[in-house]
Amino acid sequence: MTRFVFITGGVVSSLGKGLCSAALGALLQARGFRVRLRKLDPYLNVDPGTMSPYQHGEVYVTDDGAETDLDLGHYERYVGVAARRSDSVTTGRIYSTVIGRERRGEYLGATVQVIPHVTDAIKEFILADLDGEDFVLCEIGGTVGDIESLPFLEAIRQLGNELGRERVLFAHLTLVPWIASAGELKTKPTQHSAKELLGLGIQPDILLCRCERPIPDGARQKIALFCNVPARRVIPALDVDTIYAVPGAYHAEGFDREVCRHFGLDAREPDLERWNTIVNHIRKPEGEVTIAIVGKYTHLPDSYKSLAEAMTHGGIANNVRVNIDWIDSEVFEAEREAVHQLEGVNGILVPGGFGERGSAGKIEAARFARERAVPYFGICFGMQMAVIEAARHLAGLSGASSTEFGPCEHPVIGLMTEWMRGNELEQREADGDLGGTMRLGAYDAVLDPESRVAGIYGHTQISERHRHRYEVNIGYRQSLEMAGLKFSGMSPDGLLPEIVEIPDHPWFIGVQFHPELKSKPFDPHPLFTSFVKAALDQSRLV
Ligand code: GLN
Repeated sequence: MTRFVFITGGVVSSLGKGLCSAALGALLQARGFRVRLRKLDPYLNVDPGTMSPYQHGEVYVTDDGAETDLDLGHYERYVGVAARRSDSVTTGRIYSTVIGRERRGEYLGATVQVIPHVTDAIKEFILADLDGEDFVLCEIGGTVGDIESLPFLEAIRQLGNELGRERVLFAHLTLVPWIASAGELKTKPTQHSAKELLGLGIQPDILLCRCERPIPDGARQKIALFCNVPARRVIPALDVDTIYAVPGAYHAEGFDREVCRHFGLDAREPDLERWNTIVNHIRKPEGEVTIAIVGKYTHLPDSYKSLAEAMTHGGIANNVRVNIDWIDSEVFEAEREAVHQLEGVNGILVPGGFGERGSAGKIEAARFARERAVPYFGICFGMQMAVIEAARHLAGLSGASSTEFGPCEHPVIGLMTEWMRGNELEQREADGDLGGTMRLGAYDAVLDPESRVAGIYGHTQISERHRHRYEVNIGYRQSLEMAGLKFSGMSPDGLLPEIVEIPDHPWFIGVQFHPELKSKPFDPHPLFTSFVKAALDQSRLV
């Protein structure tokens, strides 16, 4: 029997509902249950693929090629279950489905309305594509009280009735602020938020209260009294020093115990050994390295969420702390000598990106790393910039560039309009819609057995996730290889370069895919483990 836990948020946004859901998923999993996590986002975009990283943070890509909310990344990192397209939905997608049905006459002439047609489509999504999991955790984006999230809240209220309360639990995450001038924690915002939810017909079963300091018993009793929940179900969610300490902290406050109790489950205690190990590694590293990430959205680290996490994982694998120097690549363009910013770092990473702005600085960063023998990791756009750099300065093609920036003499990076996925031909139009026109999701690659990457992965067949329009132009392979840039990973048909490396450099690798999306704290991605190790070796040299 599949049980559903709905997680809503109140008072303010950014309380960390995604982490809260992921942590509960990890705890239930550690008790031996099979879990699945889903996200319902109330905005009108069909998916976050076309949203600016400034607005929405990173776009997380699943194996099956969906562009989703970054919370799905937390879910995967915490429970290790590969997220699917069917785990993320937005109001935009729900409405497109409903309007599509209306146009096809599927409502048989009925007046199409939010209730029941939109709410039915939401319920269908929540219940679809499940494999008999014990628990489905559904996070509702936004904050209770927003106009936009009303249809979602109405749909989960209905599900509470239809499935029965023995299969549904409502958890509500709120804020208990500390008011310094009064020297007090305030419970009123939580009371209001619970009332707001009750006004929509949803009585929360568990309240999770984010707070910067311990919640005294009196305040807990007061919240319980006013919000109509037992005091043991008012769970303090205090700030912790690392996000990987959240499962342990929630368990200590009884969150998973109360969830099991609600469903009448006599489950075994969770085995939190692997979480404790990770947290110990993070808290007591044996050394540290500094890696520069040269990108465009560096003042908004949420834009590189999975990347920052993968770095932490690489640090865990090497038992060191990875300090990240976020560097805006436009600084290099303004004043060339800004490259001195890179002088002290132990490794340089250029992440994914779009558009010409800031690209010159990324090319400079790749050049600096190549010439000074500093470990370099180019991811997607970062690989493309390294290829342009090598073409210009090693192969002597001064007119080399990417057609993403306009026509050029040597398009070493260009648009591919068709490619093979397995036995199927996939195509895209050069002037098609922006949404959903990229090479997206998991693709296989074959590695040269003699290469550094084959050694890192330990095998020669890999599958990694993609999200890009442009490709390294295979037509320039020979001149680039003669100049010292080896094509060490290719698509199985041999047409799309997937990995390049410089063999006579301590560590210089560019990958067309996004390895950070698959890294987990308890299963760090081998490329990140190896890159951090190379940076560590480098730090011991200087
Ligand atoms: N802008 C590049 C492309 O579309 C790289 C994309 C990325 O880094 N994700 O190919």
